[in-house]
Amino acid sequence: MADHHIVLVGGGHTHVQVLREFGDRPEPGARLTLVTDRVMTPYSGMLPGHVAGVYSRAEMHIDLEGLAKRCGVALCRGTAVGIDRTRRELLLADGGRLAYDTLSLNLGITPDLSGIAGADRHAIAVKPISGLLDQLDRLFAGEVVPRRILMVGGGPAGVEIALALRTRFQALAAQPWIAIAAGDAVTPSLNPRMQQRVRAALARRDVTLLAPCRIAEIHAEGAVDTTGQHIAADAVIVSTAARAPAWLATTGLRQAADGSVLTADTLASVTDGAIFAVGDCAAIEDDRREKAGVFAVRQGPPLIANLRRRIRGEPLGPYRAQRDYLAILATGDGSAIAGRGRWLAVEGRWVWRWKDWLDRSFMARFAAGSPG
Ligand SMILES: Cc1cc2nc3c(=O)[nH]c(=O)nc-3n(C[C@H](O)[C@H](O)[C@H](O)COP(=O)(O)OP(=O)(O)OC[C@H]3O[C@@H](n4cnc5c(N)ncnc54)[C@H](O)[C@@H]3O)c2cc1C
Repeated sequence: MADHHIVLVGGGHTHVQVLREFGDRPEPGARLTLVTDRVMTPYSGMLPGHVAGVYSRAEMHIDLEGLAKRCGVALCRGTAVGIDRTRRELLLADGGRLAYDTLSLNLGITPDLSGIAGADRHAIAVKPISGLLDQLDRLFAGEVVPRRILMVGGGPAGVEIALALRTRFQALAAQPWIAIAAGDAVTPSLNPRMQQRVRAALARRDVTLLAPCRIAEIHAEGAVDTTGQHIAADAVIVSTAARAPAWLATTGLRQAADGSVLTADTLASVTDGAIFAVGDCAAIEDDRREKAGVFAVRQGPPLIANLRRRIRGEPLGPYRAQRDYLAILATGDGSAIAGRGRWLAVEGRWVWRWKDWLDRSFMARFAAGSPG
């Protein structure tokens, strides 16, 4: 049988499931290689809990090297920087080339700092998560505790991290001023009842909400909003609208406005059927879902099915995305807010315990000792 080489680029939430599944049920005639720029990949659902001090660094990371080994997948440590689609080769930062029959991209996104002057030099970006964790470590370990922290971006990620920072600093017996510059409104993607609970949680936990407030510039002493008002801060964290990796623009693959690879409902690129794209770095044509890790997780089974079909030479099947999803937001004080659709919103310690169980169950599938 022909040797079909599947190259998976990025160890995101979708590809870790591909590894697991092909480890459990190998596909005759296929071999897999995972290309990743890092060996430990973070699980964002547990990031706020880690910042708050609930989870260790190890608990919120998947060991891609161990997982690949257990699943019989080759691991190539490297950074993808381009695709030679004519020769079907992935181009790596070290000058290497990797031939593929089918390529799948699960690269994630990073905050778009280009709209805020000085952000690239003076701000801490929430992604890549490894960079955020390194910078937060320095913040917590510093001899001088920051007195004022500004979060730029009032989406669920910005809110969760701000609340988690409050918990972490309380453990350090420090009480810095923590504020969120939330643009027009906080968590606008959540339903109004959830938004109300989010605002109440921020007030309860002494996190100042600045809205409307758009940051135009970040400098060494803080930030300046679009009205010219100066906001003093020792640390500015940016969790704003994100963009897919810039190098995707060089591939000739059609992209959405945020640089994501445009795909059909089969998750294959609309430009090149040999290339799949999933998670935050992809956008399904005519489907305006927001970016969230839950969608990257849900795309696991349909991507696996279509990779198997591609290897067998069968027609691809469609992925039918659900419109809404269960959003759970940790408030950092042992409680959490959950909601779905236009009106459901609940809150309590039991919601946090539920989220903890869901996140730990997801991670257990990829831990050493799990079947695979
Ligand atoms: C603080 C925070 C909290 C969040 N909480 C939630 C939540 O509770 N629920 C939720 O649904 N979403 C949440 N999100 C959103 C979530 O993080 C993303 O939607 C999710 O991580 C996207 O997953 P992904 O698989 O597309 O990519 P990622 O998880 O970002 O994985 C991409 C991988 O590709 C690798 N990579 C990137 N470029 C290259 C390259 N050129 N070569 C090789 N490897 C590469 C990266 O190192 C990484 O391992 C949160 C985000 C943040 C910042």
